[in-house]
Amino acid sequence: MNRRHLLGLAAAALPARHLAAQERAARAVRGMPSPKIKDVSFIATAPGGLRLGVVKITTDQDGLYGYGCATYTQRADLVVEAVNRYLKPFLVGKPADRIDDTWQACYNSSYWRNGPVLNNAISGVDQALWDIKGRQAGMPVYQLLGGKLREAADCYGHASGGEIPEVIDSVRKYMAQGFRHVRVQVGIPGMAAYGSGGAVDTKVQALHTGPVYEPAVYIRRTLKLFEACRKELPEDLELCHDVHERISPTQALQMARDVEKFKLFFFEDPLSPEDLAWFRIMRQQTSTPIAMGELFNSPHEWSPLIAERLIDFIRVHVSQAGGLTPCRKIAILGEHFGVKTAWHGPGDVSPIGHAANVALDLTSYNFGIQEYSAFSERLQEIFVGCPEMKNGYLYANEKPGWGIEVNEELAKKFPYGQNERGERGRYNGGWGEVRRRDGTIIKQ
Ligand SMILES: [Mg+2]
Repeated sequence: MNRRHLLGLAAAALPARHLAAQERAARAVRGMPSPKIKDVSFIATAPGGLRLGVVKITTDQDGLYGYGCATYTQRADLVVEAVNRYLKPFLVGKPADRIDDTWQACYNSSYWRNGPVLNNAISGVDQALWDIKGRQAGMPVYQLLGGKLREAADCYGHASGGEIPEVIDSVRKYMAQGFRHVRVQVGIPGMAAYGSGGAVDTKVQALHTGPVYEPAVYIRRTLKLFEACRKELPEDLELCHDVHERISPTQALQMARDVEKFKLFFFEDPLSPEDLAWFRIMRQQTSTPIAMGELFNSPHEWSPLIAERLIDFIRVHVSQAGGLTPCRKIAILGEHFGVKTAWHGPGDVSPIGHAANVALDLTSYNFGIQEYSAFSERLQEIFVGCPEMKNGYLYANEKPGWGIEVNEELAKKFPYGQNERGERGRYNGGWGEVRRRDGTIIKQ
């Protein structure tokens, strides 16, 4: 083969190479055409009695859809209507790949904002759009947020019991499963204590017939619980506790100081959102680590607490605040001010919401801890691909998006209202009331 022949071959090959480069460039963006929102629907399911709400968004691209958690158990029916009657007509036809833009549009379209019903509805849309983007990219959502800062989310479980020895036994069960952090809550004889489980058989005397709660009795009982935990359990076990904002601000100050010696991992919701100004006083009087925020709906609530470094852990309920988009901003704000994350993770968060929590846990430098509630077998049948618990750590699903497929036919077999007992059954999934002995309503 002479030189002229070689040059001829090279000239003939040039267009082919050029074409290959064009193909490679096209391939780099292929699969990423802008999908449009074709439909928005609501999956309402209550397999364990708790009303779980999930928004499904389908796009105009065949097989491209996503799910988002919109669970607000106490007013679940209202979220269904907010999605179906307001957000669906607002969103159909809009691009599915402009997530923050869509969030801002939904948030501002009601004019009056920062309420739990609309925030949960927006969260369902927001998380569904993140799921869609992950599926489109072929990546789990945590990869879209920058990738892992840690392998898995360290979790705490809920140990409870009517009596202190029962709580200790419950803690030991969590430790046997590998948990290094446990929340402890104990019952109060004759009263309705928060988070202690079980029914109250005999009620203390009161001026009404409903559940009774007395703050001072709770405080004395809980201090005895901490004493027992520190005496009987290994010193490296991290203890959490949830006051559930049921005591007065001054009682909260005293209690936060009294528990200093027990070295809690965190002391949760000592004050209610109505008493946020007291955090400035609490911060000056105690070094007990404070966790706060599961009731928050609004930046007006979390921003001052974070920016003034008044709390140690931000505990926002991701769907309550409007979804992954605003909560990622909360996490980053917290990173700048030394506030760690501890996203709310009870049973009344759908597995999609738990997956969103884990995505934030893995991608936030200032991760603190993750609240964990076990996924029942039935729940795992409906939500296929739940985050996986191993040795007290929660692992993300490695499939694209949230990695969860919803068995929608099975979900329909557990409509809202099924398996609801007591007050939840009477009040359409809502809570009842708890009063002091004299009949004064307390915060729950
Ligand atoms: Mg709580």
